[in-house]
Parts: sequence; C-alpha cells; structure tokens
Amino acid sequence: MESEESLKMELSLKCPVCGSNLQLIENSAYVMLGCPRCRKYTRMTKKHIYRVYIEYDGNLIHLKWAELIKELYTRIATRYYLESDES
Ligand SMILES: [Zn+2]
Repeated sequence: MESEESLKMELSLKCPVCGSNLQLIENSAYVMLGCPRCRKYTRMTKKHIYRVYIEYDGNLIHLKWAELIKELYTRIATRYYLESDES
C-alpha cells in the first residue's frame, strides 16, 4: 500500500474503451487520469504541470486545468498510457 496520501475523484469523462467514468488521481508528485475498470492510467508529473500548464499574469497565477485534462484524456484516447500495478 502506498503511504503517500492521494486524492481520487471520479469524472464525468468516459473511458474510450469501456465507457466507465474516468478517475483523476492526485498525489504530491503526480496527477493521473485513468479508467478504474480497464486499469489504464496516464500520469503527468507535477513538475511538468507547473512548467507547462501554469501561466503567470502579473500577480495572478492561472492553472490551465482544461488544457491539462484535455492532454491527459488525449493520451488515454490514443492509448498512450501506463499499465497500472495498483491493486
Ligand atoms: Zn475503461
């Protein structure tokens, strides 16, 4: 079992393979999107997210969530994912 605390959230996005709701999982190092039924997940490091999906506008910081989710979903849809070893 992972000692690291992680947050899990079910989305209304559907798995392109089985049609189940996809899950978004976040821990201190990664954000993952995947299908709990097919057990296919794609993962992005937070470091990468901070580098690519955060925009600075003066004092404001925007996290481009929609683009981030879209990219993760595209990876799932194009079957660019990791086999999960999570039990
Ligand atoms: Zn699925």
